[in-house]
This record gives sequence, C-alpha cells and structure tokens, in this order.
Amino acid sequence: MTDSMKALRYHGAKDLRVESVPIPELLPGQVKVKPEWCGICGTDLHEYITGPILTPAVDKPHRLTGCTVPLIMGHEFAGEIVELGPGVEPGRLKVGMKVCIEPALFDDTCPPCLDRRRNCCDRGGFFGLSGWGGGFSEYTCLQEKLVHPLPDNVPTDIGALVEPLAVAWHALKAAGHTPDRSALIVGAGPIGLAVLFCLLARGCRQILISEVSPQRIKHALEIASSHPEVDIRVLDPTKEDVVVRAKELCSQGNQGPNVVYDCAGVQKSIDAAIGAVRKGGVGKTLQYSPIPK
Ligand SMILES: [Zn+2]
Repeated sequence: MTDSMKALRYHGAKDLRVESVPIPELLPGQVKVKPEWCGICGTDLHEYITGPILTPAVDKPHRLTGCTVPLIMGHEFAGEIVELGPGVEPGRLKVGMKVCIEPALFDDTCPPCLDRRRNCCDRGGFFGLSGWGGGFSEYTCLQEKLVHPLPDNVPTDIGALVEPLAVAWHALKAAGHTPDRSALIVGAGPIGLAVLFCLLARGCRQILISEVSPQRIKHALEIASSHPEVDIRVLDPTKEDVVVRAKELCSQGNQGPNVVYDCAGVQKSIDAAIGAVRKGGVGKTLQYSPIPK
C-alpha cells in the first residue's frame, strides 16, 4: 500500500477536485474504512452551488476540527473495515466487516454532549463537511463508536442510505408519530421518501405527499402502488390547493393531518405544512434550503 490515495476535495463553490492526498493516520480508538458507496446529500449540492456554507472557509477554521477548505466531501457512506486502530478490540467491529457511518462530529465535553445530545454539540460538525475526512476517498478513519455493522443482507449501496433514513426516523421519533396518526409529507425527494418508508414501517395508514416534480411524483406513486393496504395520496400543488385537499382528506371535520413533515425547506413548503396541520398537531422541518427557488 502506498502512502497516498485519491480523494474528492471541495475547494469552494463549483470547485471540486479529485486529488492525491496522504492516507490518513489511524489513531487510537479509530477504525479505518474503505468507502464503497457514498451518497450526494442536498447539503453537498448547496455547498457546491453557493458554498462555503457549513464547510469552513479558509479564514474561518472549524471550531472543533480546526480544518478549512479544501476538505474531503461525503457523509452518506458505507464500506468495509480494513484496519482496527490501537485500543480497538475485535468484537463488535472486525476487519472485513461491512459498515455504515454515523457522520456526527462532537467534542463530548460541552453541556449538550454531557446531556447525551451530541447532535446538538456546541462545537459540532459533520464528517465529510467539517474536516477529518469524508466518504469520497479511498480510505478514511473514524472513531469506533461512529462505525456501525451492516446486517449480512444489507449491501453497501443500501448501507449508504442509512444516514438519510436515520434523519427521517429521528423526525418520526421526535414527532411521537403513532400508527393511528395521519401524515402530510411536503416534498418527495430522498428525505421525503425516507419519511414515507419510515411511516410505512411504523404501520401508519393515511399518508399524503405533496410534490411538484413529475419524476418524484412517479417515485412516490410507485412506492404507493406496492402498499395498497395504506391510503397514500400524492398531491401536486401546481394543480390543486394542497392545504385545502389535505384538510378534506384527513377526516374528522376538515381538521387536516396530525403530523406534517416539511422535506423541501422552501417558503412555499413551510407555508403548506403549517397551513395544513390540524390544531394541536405536530410539524417537523427536515430540510433547509439556503438557495431561493
Ligand atoms: Zn459537545
């Protein structure tokens, strides 16, 4: 093995380069992973179009990693363990095991971290956005606790989707979504469809989806057709008033859905979600777009 590898590095807006960089040193408590599949998140796209946004600019080193651009991108990935670092005993993790990644970076010392809310870390960042490596590289090293084994029947192309799926699952948990509650998903991109899969897994029986893109409407309808036992309706806001229809379709006197999930992150989707949700219902925002649409 040579001491250099290829990696996709972000230098700034519309400036991505495949470069030769040193293979990262495997530190105590870390695991070295060879990424096999890595997704492109909407956040990555925003960085590419108008960044640096979350990525630390040259004059603003990240508060935890101390890194700045250029840095390796990619936080939705899965791959194979190639080496265990000093102090990592073979057991839960072994060389050759297929794994997915939890890309959260945190300091484990601030009040939110000590309160076991490391996703709210005061100095938190993201692997693949804040430095210390990313999935678009031949090798990457992560803390042992951020590496999770995949079951034998889950290949790494599916494993790369665990991170966006976890975003959706967290939203359902935070909303306290029980099967008897109706839902409106605004935006049927990857995160919206991840919410749909989680609602189906939870046994929800009435799900409305609002989407404008014909391609995304097609994906949502395909999923709906394979679940005929669930009342799934796809609404197109260019053809009908989603707020009015959502109120009508979720019965009990035009009350609207119990829970709304904004998965588009633009003003129109936020307005639709807030307009449709029933009184005393719950709204969750899973997306934020810094780019006006
Ligand atoms: Zn912290």
